[in-house]
Amino acid sequence: MTVRANIRAMKGYTPGEQLNDPGIIKLNTNENPYPPSPRVVEAIQAALTANNLRKYPQPLGDQFRHAAAAVLGIDPDAILIGNGSDDLLTILTRAYVPEGGIVASPTPSYVLYQSLAEIQGAQYQPLRFQADWSRLAEMPAAADITFLPNPNSPSGTVVSADFLKELVHQLEPRPVVLDEAYADFADSNGLQQGLAQAPNVIITRSFSKSYALAGIRFGFAIARPALVRELIKVKDSYNCDVLSLAAATAAIQDQGYFHDIRSKILATRERMVRELTALGFEVTPSRANFVWCRRRDRDVRAIYEELKRRQILVRYMSYPIGPMGSPDEPYTGLRISVGTDAEIDRLLRELQAIV
Ligand SMILES: *Cc1c(COP(=O)(O)O)cnc(C)c1O
Repeated sequence: MTVRANIRAMKGYTPGEQLNDPGIIKLNTNENPYPPSPRVVEAIQAALTANNLRKYPQPLGDQFRHAAAAVLGIDPDAILIGNGSDDLLTILTRAYVPEGGIVASPTPSYVLYQSLAEIQGAQYQPLRFQADWSRLAEMPAAADITFLPNPNSPSGTVVSADFLKELVHQLEPRPVVLDEAYADFADSNGLQQGLAQAPNVIITRSFSKSYALAGIRFGFAIARPALVRELIKVKDSYNCDVLSLAAATAAIQDQGYFHDIRSKILATRERMVRELTALGFEVTPSRANFVWCRRRDRDVRAIYEELKRRQILVRYMSYPIGPMGSPDEPYTGLRISVGTDAEIDRLLRELQAIV
């Protein structure tokens, strides 16, 4: 027996390098440079009892759902828990996309959506952004599901609220997934814009970036309760473990800490944009916890290699095409996560020496 032909044919998603060397400054996978709230560690320690380990966790994570619903001002039944938001993207693909169906998402963007399409045996339809990243250049008319990361990675940009509304209404009843892994770093989001009420919208959120819990694997989706009830049938019964549920509940309840680290990251981000621009990079204004940097005068791959040699890891990205009007093919750049101020000082010093 061999595995299915679509699996044999696919390359598989390659995550960013996760080097273990503690001396390295890691600015390549958009983790939070700050530790999670101290209450998270306390909550995990409190949950770490032999009896809790022996038993299954709550299948729907009701304690988390109530805590998150109170913070966000929504119905607990509008929340679906996930083992990282990637788990939710998988659940959504399985729920909506038939074999031979179509998965659409923008490019340059998160490439996992294409891998999910390939695993499902579906066609992948890339959609180009307009030159300023504020809209897609075309509507994915026949897609069984459309994923839109907002803010987008690697650009760090958001589409306009008008475009978002237009997309959702034009595609109805076809589902639109707003992947809001970075929305906590932006000025606005789909929930605030009322889009979670739309019958064809699912918003996904992650605890990996803004809550500094990438190691815990927790995310959640927000959608109409009727839709959440359908998705519950698709997920693993116990997709989130007892420790991650305790951690996520404590994290979302500590909004004071969340806002503190968020404002530090936003301040450092603005400084990065200014100083990287002064070093000759073309920096796209960012609404996320990373910045997208390009250069006309030289190959950024060499800069990535040289930084790595100096113990600083950033993400070199290369896409077949860029947004509309970009003559650069392949379209390449460096995606640099916002670190602590000390880490960014070191990055800027090394870059100054390199360029
Ligand atoms: C990081 C990221 C995710 C995955 O988040 P997890 O919760 O860690 O699974 C999803 N979408 C985008 C666009 C991301 O950058």
